[in-house]
Amino acid sequence: MGKGKPKRRGIDVPARVRFAPSPTGSLHVGGARTALFNWLIARNTGGTFVLRVEDTDRERSTPESEAEILRALTWLGLDWDEGPLRQSERGQAHQAAVERLRQEGAIYAAWETEEELEAQRAAARADKRAPVVRGRRDHTEDELDALRAEGREPVWRFAVDTAGRTEIDDYVRGTVTFEHAAIEDFVVARSDGSPTYNLAAAVDDAEMGITHVVRGEDHISNTPKQMMIMRALGHEPPEYAHIPLILGPDKKRLSKRHGAASVEELESAGFLPIAALNALALCGWSYDDKTTMFTPEELVEKFSIARVSKSPAVFDMKRLEVLNGRYLRTTPDDEFADILVAYLTDTGYLAERGDGAEEIARRSAPAVKRKLGTLGDYDGLAGWLFRPHDIEPEAWEVVTKDVKHSVQVIGAGLGRIETLEEFTVERLREELSDQLHILGEAARDFLEPQRIALTGQLVSTGIYESLEMVGRDEAVSRYRSTLARLAELWQSA
Ligand code: GLU
Repeated sequence: MGKGKPKRRGIDVPARVRFAPSPTGSLHVGGARTALFNWLIARNTGGTFVLRVEDTDRERSTPESEAEILRALTWLGLDWDEGPLRQSERGQAHQAAVERLRQEGAIYAAWETEEELEAQRAAARADKRAPVVRGRRDHTEDELDALRAEGREPVWRFAVDTAGRTEIDDYVRGTVTFEHAAIEDFVVARSDGSPTYNLAAAVDDAEMGITHVVRGEDHISNTPKQMMIMRALGHEPPEYAHIPLILGPDKKRLSKRHGAASVEELESAGFLPIAALNALALCGWSYDDKTTMFTPEELVEKFSIARVSKSPAVFDMKRLEVLNGRYLRTTPDDEFADILVAYLTDTGYLAERGDGAEEIARRSAPAVKRKLGTLGDYDGLAGWLFRPHDIEPEAWEVVTKDVKHSVQVIGAGLGRIETLEEFTVERLREELSDQLHILGEAARDFLEPQRIALTGQLVSTGIYESLEMVGRDEAVSRYRSTLARLAELWQSA
């Protein structure tokens, strides 16, 4: 055992945890990672994973976003035991809590206008104090009548005990202390009576019996507020774990700029759910600093909140691509072909390419499997299979740099394949390697023109597999048409 750092604690009781997305967009990588950690904790402690949709923001919440988030969770293989419970359906519980807080004197009606609040903040800043706002609580009846006559409606603010402090014994961050003097009298209910996020989340976490709240670090300043609300309502707060932010490789907050920021984007870029799951798990957690491929069962078994780092985690698409390629290569050919066809069907690729396209895609599966990073790279490698023979401009440039040489090696290759009976990868490799040695060519100088003659692309499925896939007649005809084009150029030169 290493000395120094005390070992952090893990969760060893059946945890009742929740994932609480706001349905205002697709499922972001950060949200998915939060969902995954909660799911892992529920599964490895024999606990319960509750899905709670935080749709109290009626303007920004949509049923489409909710459906998309659920779909993305399902794609990742994260199943929930309870829910989806919708916060919007818990209005009565939230109202009752506000009423109770009012009776307890824990909240008060605050009449300040936005300008008055801004003036308070400015004064605090000038005084070098935290820019917190507090409402006036000593209005006389006459003053209140006057405010009402002006048409003002109060919001409800929590009466923060400014002399106190709240300590969070956080699983990831250790002890975090908040001095109440720096916490404003936060709003719990708006003037129309609707509850704020802090009220709804606190009441729901308490009433749903959540034992551990595991969420992004960006929520840590809400935690003391939610704990105050719970305590004022007579509930013991749950335990907390605030997990680190996710950044792109440039250490900026992860966004679409980095390639993909949502699960939906990962899916359409052609990542496998298992690769995405591992990449998410490794955002802030590690098992032994070297293993990067776990089955979901292994993740459940090995995950511990005690090994979640508090430093920001980096989500690196390049690393994910490498990982995805490794997963693709370990997938058996048949299964891979099914995954590929499903992906190319969902993205509309096969439909656009007409009859027989599925058959071609299936035939190409073993060859592309060896080279793919993501399914989204399929067209770059195998698109030529669906097109009549044509040569991409970049490839034409390469093959025409030394026309004489190209004609010579393509011609020699054609001589070998034209007469070959057994058109298989093994035999093709033998024949072409033999020819390459006879000509005394470097492999690349000989094989690149073959690739271009056949596929018209600079990057493609391997040359021997490509030849086998299209068969002799098609291969010969492609070689001949390339030679014809080159000859034309040669003669006109
Ligand atoms: N609805 C909040 C969000 O999506 C959840 C915060 C929480 O987990 O308490 O950020």
